Amino acid sequence: MTMRISLSDAQKVWFCASCEEVIEGPVTLYECGECGTVFDRENSADGNSQKCPDCNKLAAKLTAHGCPDCQEEDGCKEVMAVDADGEWVVISDATVK
Ligand SMILES: [Zn+2]
Ligand SMILES: [Zn+2]
Repeated sequence: MTMRISLSDAQKVWFCASCEEVIEGPVTLYECGECGTVFDRENSADGNSQKCPDCNKLAAKLTAHGCPDCQEEDGCKEVMAVDADGEWVVISDATVK
């Protein structure tokens, strides 16, 4: 069985190397200097800030390209991928800055 994929259908998507899954897009992650918790804005103390959900202190920005699923700091990158019946097949690194 060969999977039929057309390279011309390739599109740029965000991929998390840690989850090994295509994600919607990277998020900004913050790391709390007090307790070391890593979180995104959605999981912050008030739902949309850089306040630590654990101790309510302002946290420092860790990265702008974190994974929303696994909180992996540098796991996300843009790749060229093809949608093959709902399964993303990664073809190559897009390597776009
Ligand atoms: Zn991930
Ligand atoms: Zn904290």
